[in-house]
This record gives sequence, C-alpha cells and structure tokens, in this order.
Amino acid sequence: MELDRGQIIDLLNERDPQVVSQLFDEAYRTKVENVGESVYLRGLIEISNICRKNCLYCGIRSDNSAVVRYQLSNDDVLGAAKFALDAGYGSIVIQGGERQDKAFVKDIKRLIKKIKRLSRKNPLGITLSLGEQPIEVYEDWFDAGAHRYLLRIETSNEELYNMIHPSGDLHSFNSRVQALLNLKYTGYQVGTGVMIGLPFQTTEHLADDLLFFRDFDIDMCGMGPYLEHSQTPMWALRNNILPPEERLTLSLKMVALLRLMMPDINIAATTAMQTLHPEGREMAIMAGANVIMPNMTIQDVRANYQIYENKLGIEDDAAISKSKLEEFLSKKSIPIGLNQWGDSLHFINR
Ligand code: SAM
Ligand code: SF4
Repeated sequence: MELDRGQIIDLLNERDPQVVSQLFDEAYRTKVENVGESVYLRGLIEISNICRKNCLYCGIRSDNSAVVRYQLSNDDVLGAAKFALDAGYGSIVIQGGERQDKAFVKDIKRLIKKIKRLSRKNPLGITLSLGEQPIEVYEDWFDAGAHRYLLRIETSNEELYNMIHPSGDLHSFNSRVQALLNLKYTGYQVGTGVMIGLPFQTTEHLADDLLFFRDFDIDMCGMGPYLEHSQTPMWALRNNILPPEERLTLSLKMVALLRLMMPDINIAATTAMQTLHPEGREMAIMAGANVIMPNMTIQDVRANYQIYENKLGIEDDAAISKSKLEEFLSKKSIPIGLNQWGDSLHFINR
C-alpha cells in the first residue's frame, strides 16, 4: 500500500482504539496474503557481550564496568545450534557485541563452517548480527555460509543518531549507512531497524524511519521499543520518554505500517516488546510480524547480556522459551514454518 509521510504520521498519532485495531487487522491480513500464515523461528545465540562500542543506550557498552564479560566457546554455540536444529527451527541468529580483531573474525568464520557441517542433511540458515565490519569480513562470512545480516540503523535521523551515540568516528551515522550498503552489495538478505520511543524522538522521525526502510529496499526488519538501563548515560533521560504502554503501541503501529508499505519482507516480533507486555511478541504477530527469535543462549551467561533491564527469558532455558511460544501459536492456530529457512520473499522476488 502506498502511504505518504502525512498519512504515516497521522496513523502513528492515531488515538482512537477502533482505528488502531483496524490498522493491526489490515496489516495481519496483508501479511497472510503476501507471506502466508506461518511464523518462522530463529534460535537466537548471544555469542559474546564484549563490545568495542559505547552506544549511550546499551547495557553492554564498553564503558559499563559492572558487566561480567563472556565469550561462548565454539562447543557452546554448536550445542545451541544443535538444539535449534533438533527443535526444527530451521535458522539461527548469532548476535553479539562488535569486535573487529582478527581472532574474532576468524573464529566466526570457523564457527559458520562448523554449523553448516553439523546440519549437513538439513542445513540451518545462519543470520549474523555482529555490528559494523569491513566489507572483506562481510564477504568472508558470507562465503563461509551466512546469508542474512541484521544491522539496525537505530534511527534514520542523523541528528538523533548523534545524540544517542558518543561523538567520533567509531559511532558515525555515515559508516552505519555504508555498512548497510556493503552488506547489500555482498549479497546478504539485509535487515535493519530502529528503537522506538527514544528521548527526543518524534512521530515525524519514525515516519522517516519507515520511508528509509522503503527507500533502502530492505529485506527484513527488527524494531522494538527503547528500554532504559540504569548503567547507561541515557538513564538520566528516563523521565523524558513515553510511558511503556505508549511505547509498545507505537512499536506495534510501526510494525503494522511497515507491513502495509512492504508486504513481502520479514518482520520480527522482538523480545523488547515482550519486556513491556507479557504478550508483546504475540501482539506484534497479530499486527503483521512473521518472525520470532527465541533465546537459545545457555543459562549460565544470559544474565550478562542485559542490553536493557528486565529482559525477558533470563530465567528461562531454551526449552521453556520454546514451549511458551508454541502454546500461544497453537492457541491462535498459527502454523510454525518448521525446518525451513523462511527467507525474505522480498529478497527472492527482487
Ligand atoms: N552489537 C551489534 C549491533 O549493535 O548491531 C548487535 C548487538 S546489539 C545488542 C543489538 C541491538 O540491541 C541494537 O541494534 C539496539 O537497537 C538494541 N539495543 C541496545 N540497547 C537497547 C536498549 N536499551 N533498548 C532497546 N534496544 C536496545
Ligand atoms: Fe555494542 Fe551493539 Fe550495544 Fe552498541 S548496541 S554497545 S554496538 S552491543
């Protein structure tokens, strides 16, 4: 559906519950018509909380000395991948702090190859979310077998981007955009996204984010509410943000509007939504999302990957997260695309 900036802003500002509910229903119908009824699962493996960056909103930023840093062993990652494989998830996401040192880059390459070998009969799809890297690294990991990459733009407004990141070359808006272009050029299915409800963020900014996704012609999107963390500089602005219910509704509206604008992309129902409401991810599915990423990270280290506080699933193990989800999906008669990669149809159709 063609929506202009004014219409998007109006819908983001819409307060009439009936109109908002119609928007979600229309988005759900659009999803079913264009990408089918199924929800695809990606087992999320949080490989490391070591990060060279210092984003002002993130709990695992390099300056947070209260965090116990960890790096999963290859065996731990392979164990989680095997769990996802046996559970029929079809795909995994390897996510972590940004590191560019040679040992890390090589290790990831080796790991991708091992995961491919482990799942030779029914290969697992591999999505990476390991921040900005030189194009040669993106190419290396792609050649090793990764085929999707998630890198959020965080906000498409350069001024706001600069407000939520430290100054200097390490956190440059232009490098972020260039990294997204490099990922596309390398051949990945590219996913991006934003945080919703940031201090100083307006509905105009959010409308521009949706137009950025459309103009960049993204294949996948993962966006969710901004959640405050007491060990970050942005904690000081905690009284300048929308209340949780409004942040959640705004996030759901963003999902629904994006589904109407880009009917055949993959859109994730994110964990951050669940943190604001026990059924936040399920609500996102009903507003047009079609991907869920249950956490497969081993229990021992989960509490150390607190990018925001009260993160869902910290008490769960992978099996529990999985069964809670399945219960909801079966209650709603929503099929799970088991043992399939669930690639972005937008990418395939391009
Ligand atoms: N380091 C990689 C990167 O930044 O792309 C991947 C891991 S990072 C933890 C993944 C995402 O977490 C970021 O893109 C950001 O949007 C999100 N995130 C970090 N802090 C957050 C917060 N306080 N609230 C909501 N999302 C947050
Ligand atoms: Fe590091 Fe990503 Fe957190 Fe920024 S958002 S500090 S890059 S883990």
